[in-house]
Amino acid sequence: MTRRIWNLSAGPAVLPECVLAEAQQSLLSLGNSGVGVCEHSHRGKVFVGVADEAESLCRELAGIPDNYRVLFLQGGASTQFAMIPMNFLTPDTTADYIVTGSWAKKSVKEARLFGRVHVASTSEDTNFNVIPASHTFSHQARYVHYTSNNTVFGTQFATEPEGFSDHTFLICDASSDIFSRPIDVSKYGLIYAGAQKNLGTSGVTLVIIRDDLVEAGNDQLTSMLQYRTHANADSMYNTPPTFGIYVMMLMFRWIRHNGGLSGMAARNREKARRLYDAIDCSSIFHATAVQTSRSQMNVTFVTGDPKRDVQFIAAATSAGFNAIKGHRSVGGMRASIYNAFPIEGVVALIQLMEEFENATE
Ligand code: PMP
Repeated sequence: MTRRIWNLSAGPAVLPECVLAEAQQSLLSLGNSGVGVCEHSHRGKVFVGVADEAESLCRELAGIPDNYRVLFLQGGASTQFAMIPMNFLTPDTTADYIVTGSWAKKSVKEARLFGRVHVASTSEDTNFNVIPASHTFSHQARYVHYTSNNTVFGTQFATEPEGFSDHTFLICDASSDIFSRPIDVSKYGLIYAGAQKNLGTSGVTLVIIRDDLVEAGNDQLTSMLQYRTHANADSMYNTPPTFGIYVMMLMFRWIRHNGGLSGMAARNREKARRLYDAIDCSSIFHATAVQTSRSQMNVTFVTGDPKRDVQFIAAATSAGFNAIKGHRSVGGMRASIYNAFPIEGVVALIQLMEEFENATE
């Protein structure tokens, strides 16, 4: 087998080797069925067993209350940017958006097609290097939408935004930190995430939605864009992304085996602490996010000299690190250290940074 290297990709991202090995075997035969995972009918007993286990593990790990539905949808988080306002906004109602990065901006763009948008806070004036400390919510907002982790800018909410009216429900784009730490689902109306960072492969989007909102959604939309269609059909209205659901099920098993969401939180906290400590102790590397807003998932840093950034990226690439180049809107480096990224990889990266710094001085 080709040697595997440290994969710091922002998504699709690293998966645990045991998950990949099991998926590899299942491509030829899922269990002892004699039929590969991608070849099973989604309505057959074998695959329905996979989908049921994925849902029940999801509920168990996050402690999802009974009055919420778990849906496995398609179209990525980007389709949720549109499906949410389509279902819950009208031209004369308002939604509040907290704009902490480029994904949040894209969700605003979609919402404006269907209703009024009020930007409750934004950190765009400082190139999104901070989570705003306060928000100005509207009195009658239908919902408040925020992005819990900003994949591009390396910032993350420490806790849920608060202070909006009781009539308003909270929506979270948790694409880049879902199940990386415990979550109190009861605080939300809807949580969504593309799976390709913390929960598996691209192609499946996890949506956790409160029952009353399934019913409240616009019933004049095309079937595929109504939450009730998918809720009523247990996510099998049409052919679901079976392989993605299968890998998500394996990831849920892996998360449970590694201490559940509190186990993930401890693991992720330690990885991020070590990496930020190394950056803070360095005389050439600097974190781009304000300290209190730093992400435990995407660690963004620069040397302050674009030429030196290029040299470091080249050194990291030849030392066996994949995709450490930062997003062009921030520059520098980004180390995405999601659930499955091992601590050994963080240790190796820190060592490389020290060697680079010594060689530079
Ligand atoms: N939201 C966030 C926070 C993301 O990081 C991404 C993808 N990187 C998206 C939304 C878009 O997700 P998708 O590609 O699944 O549409």
